[in-house]
Formats: sequence, structure tokens, C-alpha cells
Amino acid sequence: MSLSSDNSGSENIRCIVRCRPLNEKEIGLGSKCVTISSDSKVVFVENKNDKLANGKYAMDHVFNENVTQEEVFQEIGEPILKSFISGYNCTIFCYGQTGAGKTHTMMGPLEQLFEENSSPQGLIPRIIHYLFNEETKVKNIITGGNLDKSKDIKMTIKFCVMELYQESIIDLLKTENNTNTTGKNSNNDKANELKIKEDPKKGMYVQGITEVEIKTAKEAKNLILMGLKSRHVAATEMNAESSRSHLLFSIYLSTSYINSRGGKIEKMSRLHLIDLAGSERQKKTKAQGERIKEACMINKSLSTLGNVINALVENYEGKNKYIPFRDSKLTYFLKDSLG
Ligand code: ADP
Repeated sequence: MSLSSDNSGSENIRCIVRCRPLNEKEIGLGSKCVTISSDSKVVFVENKNDKLANGKYAMDHVFNENVTQEEVFQEIGEPILKSFISGYNCTIFCYGQTGAGKTHTMMGPLEQLFEENSSPQGLIPRIIHYLFNEETKVKNIITGGNLDKSKDIKMTIKFCVMELYQESIIDLLKTENNTNTTGKNSNNDKANELKIKEDPKKGMYVQGITEVEIKTAKEAKNLILMGLKSRHVAATEMNAESSRSHLLFSIYLSTSYINSRGGKIEKMSRLHLIDLAGSERQKKTKAQGERIKEACMINKSLSTLGNVINALVENYEGKNKYIPFRDSKLTYFLKDSLG
């Protein structure tokens, strides 16, 4: 799903389904892939074991299992990136059960992260490549298509990598990352907890979170690896699995240029790229004890996200709905990127 805060009406929120190829286990069980309408806008679900899920679901776009990572980037990544570089706050979420292909879509294999033009790379490496290596395209977007009439074009890019686990924020770029930054396993939990703040100028932000200025694609990718390594450490220390938390990559962009009339144009925007926690049901995964608490938190945060998005869509359609941003940390942090 991708969202941008530009003013093009209902196109602000797009819901896209990607079907992945069946794995060996699924093929062995005789499972079949869902059916997709010829215009790639409707998914038909027929599942003998889960009749409640059966039906047809209209989407903005449905990718079949043969879609390439580049096609996904062109359909989702590039339009969002253009809005972001033009100065709008944008978000891309990946939602689905563990094993559905969220990380593959967002990141792709880490072994190929640093390769140029690697076809398995997901949205995040492609977005990084575009931002840092497509200078002419980027400057043309910054100047609203008036690159030749503009001068002194500047841009600053900062990155944050964080995780939301059981409604606690974990800074994955804090060099001495330890469980204290999470507010977990610590004697003074509340005192150490990272808090979300609202500032009229800055927008929503996490107080004290590490923001790193990045100048090259290589630096950005190294930072991602560092964040993922800390995530693994934090998950182990909390006896959790990474798929049970939301992973957020936030890119903060400030641009400025002098236009043809000599005026200075400055803009700030943010792009959040979010790999959401697995959406599997507790009953199915036979969750117990701490896992039930975890699953309840995930369900609460995912259903709040659903409620916020539904309310936003209804507001676009002219209704005057209350938007429950404050019901979860994720939606509160994303308030000015969703709303
Ligand atoms: P999730 O992040 O939703 O838990 P993953 O992205 O880790 O799921 O995907 C699970 C497995 O399926 C991985 O081995 C991944 O490489 C594979 N996979 C997912 N989507 C695709 C795809 N579109 N094409 C090929 N393999 C895929």
C-alpha cells in the first residue's frame, strides 16, 4: 500500500496486492494461486479451508506472481518518489502474513544490496539508487521541471531506522544499541522510552532518535545493514522474532533552489518505508503466553492502521470522520504522512 499527501484526491491512497510464487510446501499441498481479473484490478479468493476469506476484492492494482522487482518499483516506487522529491510526505506499507513476501518486496536479498542493477533488489535499494544516482531526474523534480532556469540546487538527505515492538520504539541506529533504548528489560522502563512528539514546524518526530545525514547510496545501504543488525540483536535480547515488530525506514529530505525570478524555494518532506509485523492470526499460530500479548499488540496496531486508513478514505469521499491517529504509536507517528 502506498500513500502520499499530495492533493490529487483519492489517488492519495493506493492499495496494491502482490502475489508471490507458490513455495514447495504449498505446491506439495496442491495449493493454487488466487485468480486475478484481466484488468489486474480484482483478486478472486477461493479457499475450501477458510470460507470466510472467500470473495472478490477490488484493488488499485494486482501483480501476479511473475511480476519483476523493477515493475513493482515503476508502479509503486517511482510515483511515490516523485511526490516525495516534490515536497510531499509519503508512506509505503507492506502488509501480510509472515512469509507472504513483504521483505522481498521492500528489500530483496541483502547479498545483492550493493550490486548495481541487480534484478532481485526490492523497493528500498531502488529508491536509494534513484535518490543518489539519478541526479538530473531528481533536480528536475525539485525544480518542478525548470532545471535549466534554476540555480543553486541543494538537497540534504537524512535517514532514521527504527522498530516498533509492543508499542515501544527502538532506535536501530543508536551505536551502543542495547535494550535500554527500547525501554524493555530495564529497571526504569518509562524513563528510557522514546517518545513521539508533535512540532508545528518539524511535524511528527521521535524525540532523541538518531538521524544520520547521507551523501551516497553506499552510505545509505551501510546504514540499512547496521539497522538490520541491531534489529536482530534487539529481537534476540527480547526473545522475539523480527517478524513480530514493525520496521520503519524514514528518509527526510530538505531541498532548496533559486528560481528564474531569483526567489529561494525551500521544501521539506519525508518518506516512510514500512515493513509491517506479520498479520497471522493467533489461533492459527497457536500463540501462548508472551506470544499472545505480542500478537494482541500487533493486531491492535494493524487494526488501528486499518481504521485510520478507512477513516481517511471516507473523508476523501466527503464524510467527516474522526481519525483515530492516537490509538497506536505507528499511526500517531505517521499522522502527518497519512493525513
Ligand atoms: P515476509 O517478509 O512477508 O515474512 P519474505 O519476504 O521473507 O516474507 O518471503 C518469504 C520467502 O519467499 C523468502 O524466501 C523470499 O525470498 C520468497 N519470496 C517472497 N516473494 C517472492 C517473489 N515475489 N518471488 C520469489 N520469491 C519470493
